[in-house]
Amino acid sequence: MSGGDVRRLADWDRAHLRSLAAKYGTPLYVIDLERVRSNAQRVCRAFPDAHIQYAVKAHTGHTVLKTVREAGLDAECASAGEVARAFDAGYGANDIQYTAVNPPDKDLDYIVDCWRENNALTVTVGARDTLLRLSERGYDGRLCIRVNPGVGAGHHEMVQTGKDAKFGVPYNRAADVVAEARDYFDVIGLHAHAGSGIDVDQLENHRELVQRMGTLAREVGDLEFVDVGGGFGVPYRKDEPPFDLRVVADATREAIGEISAQLAIEPGRYIVADAGVLLTTVNTIKPAPKTTIVGVDAGMTTLLRPALYDAFHPMAILADRGDSPITVTGPICESSDVFCTDRPLGTPKRDDVIAIGNAGAYGYEMASTYNSRPRPAEIALANGTNRIVRQRETLADLTRLEKDEP
Ligand SMILES: *Cc1c(COP(=O)(O)O)cnc(C)c1O
Repeated sequence: MSGGDVRRLADWDRAHLRSLAAKYGTPLYVIDLERVRSNAQRVCRAFPDAHIQYAVKAHTGHTVLKTVREAGLDAECASAGEVARAFDAGYGANDIQYTAVNPPDKDLDYIVDCWRENNALTVTVGARDTLLRLSERGYDGRLCIRVNPGVGAGHHEMVQTGKDAKFGVPYNRAADVVAEARDYFDVIGLHAHAGSGIDVDQLENHRELVQRMGTLAREVGDLEFVDVGGGFGVPYRKDEPPFDLRVVADATREAIGEISAQLAIEPGRYIVADAGVLLTTVNTIKPAPKTTIVGVDAGMTTLLRPALYDAFHPMAILADRGDSPITVTGPICESSDVFCTDRPLGTPKRDDVIAIGNAGAYGYEMASTYNSRPRPAEIALANGTNRIVRQRETLADLTRLEKDEP
């Protein structure tokens, strides 16, 4: 089962999830490393000739990074912290691409130090100003230019990065920036990322982006790779079909045309989303006029996507409780702290465990301690065993960095 194209919330073993909640407490993230591995392998099979990098920001857990590395994927990192984590998980500089998005000085200092130790590192830059800041630090190594392709794709306008002027140099200026950068750097790649959650309906946008990148690659010539980003979707809703990797791979190869450089991709969500669930316990049940308000111990500080993007996550009570509509809310004093509204999940009893599916991507990563709620624990499943891979934060952790005594 763990090798199929799609893994839905209903495919998880309910009794097992209940036993994990009982053993480790909630809220609890669960990540299945075997599913991470099989997702990575499926991408490798669909894109046999491509350079495949995992967009680390989707899930930076140490065991996840190790699993992904062992499956043969390189690492695409968006900050100095992610690069440090990639090294910590065993990646070498030649497996890391650092994508600078308005990089703070501290990030550039760290990256240039890493490059001095091993100049196989690749830096992706989307602004001329960043090129100057790198050259001021003496960096003249492997450089990839991030292009703003003028095409966006994604499930919510906030994750459509392709059209956003924040990301990349404008398409019509890209060839000039490449030419200019070549005077000083070793320009080896072009990069574009349209945004997250490309689905089959949005394949036209993907094709257009890839086509533009192919055209640009032929214009500037002499490159090692053309990176067309990530954004492979996963079905969050029951009636959404699985993401068809083969269709996307074919469309990508066709759209890019003849290029002498290698195709590169950088999926994040696809690798980890359906490998994770979040378990949460019902605290409070309150009848309301048209629904039942169910308070749980996870909130927007545990899983932010519903509050931030209005994202849909599949949910299930891990007990048979019928199908009456309920509204599931967290313990945070914000009206956006809601996981679902009037969803026919059945009416739970206090202490029931609710599973929230597809929580492996951008779940723990976006967790915070707002309302002074410690971040949850995470456990990893592999080879029939389970173990804590991220300790649950404690109340003492909340003030650990705030003491003024020496
Ligand atoms: C976030 C991001 C990705 C991964 O996007 P997914 O939707 O998780 O696949 C890839 N590349 C860049 C530059 C990103 O910022």
